[in-house]
Amino acid sequence: MARIVMKFGGTSVADIDRIRNVANHIKREVDCGHEIAVVVSAMSGKTNELVAWATEASPLHDAREYDAIVASGEQVTSGLLAIILQSMGVDARSWLGWQIPIKTDGAHAAARIQEIDASEIVNRFAKQQVAVVAGFQGIGPDNRIATLGRGGSDTSAVALAAAVNADRCDIYTDVDGVYTTDPRVEPNARRLSKVSYEEMLEMASLGAKVLQVRSVELAMVHNVRTFVRSSFEAPDAPGMGDFNNPPGTLICDEDEIVEKQIVTGIAYAKDEAQISLRQLDDRPGVSAAIFGPMADGGINVDMIVQNISGDGKFTDMTFTVPSGDLEKAANLLEQNKQEIGYNEIQSESGLVKVSVIGIGMRSHAGVAATAFKALAEKGINIRAITTSEIKISILIDADYAELAVRTLHSVYGLDNT
Ligand code: ASP
Ligand code: MG
Repeated sequence: MARIVMKFGGTSVADIDRIRNVANHIKREVDCGHEIAVVVSAMSGKTNELVAWATEASPLHDAREYDAIVASGEQVTSGLLAIILQSMGVDARSWLGWQIPIKTDGAHAAARIQEIDASEIVNRFAKQQVAVVAGFQGIGPDNRIATLGRGGSDTSAVALAAAVNADRCDIYTDVDGVYTTDPRVEPNARRLSKVSYEEMLEMASLGAKVLQVRSVELAMVHNVRTFVRSSFEAPDAPGMGDFNNPPGTLICDEDEIVEKQIVTGIAYAKDEAQISLRQLDDRPGVSAAIFGPMADGGINVDMIVQNISGDGKFTDMTFTVPSGDLEKAANLLEQNKQEIGYNEIQSESGLVKVSVIGIGMRSHAGVAATAFKALAEKGINIRAITTSEIKISILIDADYAELAVRTLHSVYGLDNT
């Protein structure tokens, strides 16, 4: 017997038929004798609709009332799923964030979970009752509903799994796992059977939109083994109820990964913009003068490349920001031109960052060189490069994004052959 938190996303609970399908997945696990808590999202599209209503009511609205409105989507699905489970003879009860309680900080609309008192949920496990928990919500210090930011029910699920000390958190979604790259770009992408928290964090933040980034951070901190699998596979398909080896991708500690690949996956992020400041005075404090205002303006700077130009008196600084922030960033640099002391500013938006990710890189030399050579052979120009212990990121023109992803996927032997 195991203790499992099962999370179902918006497309998995999009209508009553799909909620019935979800209930069948739950019943299968209950029938195996497992202790089950479920976390649900709102029906797909519902949260967008609620957000739009709040904005239509008043574009500048009170975040506490926004939370009261948008949290309702999950309330509906938790009640519906509990009813359907009961009608199938499975004992189930719905739970809103405040009833557990899931305590958050006071940052309405972007709250963080601070504490979950899961004792009552655990009591109900002993009575074979399934807890159906509304995701995305908790209760703030002001005693009001607080939501966790878009996509937050993944975080609810992982946090609940940590609180009840679950053996695993199963994230049921509309894809059947995490792939070596986006299968729409590279049809030869393979489903990974295991990926480490660190690698998943890189993939999630680079646009592999399977999980909310914060949920992966939380899973890593609390070592919650998190399993990505499909709710669209028939609940009674072969292997689905096999606790030890169901179809999907396990996100876990790297110690659990016996065969560490040098490269695990290729991720890409669109809509990057590059800014280059030419002929900066090469003096202490110049970076602070540039990136201080960016930070104050809430602009997320990513790659930073500095090099000497001219006779060594000057330096050039190139960095990237999301395309949507380019104008704001350029204005800030303009305003601070005196203090920064540059000669010229150049920028370009609509670029793509392609990243090669793998924990095996830590112990292997030459991984980056392989990428550069492969891209050169395809005539792809590299604009900027950054590396970390487990990642190489390369900035290129958008036109070459797909070619670059496919080239790297194949050169590191990731193709499904
Ligand atoms: N329903 C919320 C959203 O759409 C939370 C979630 O689905 O994770 O953002
Ligand atoms: Mg989601």
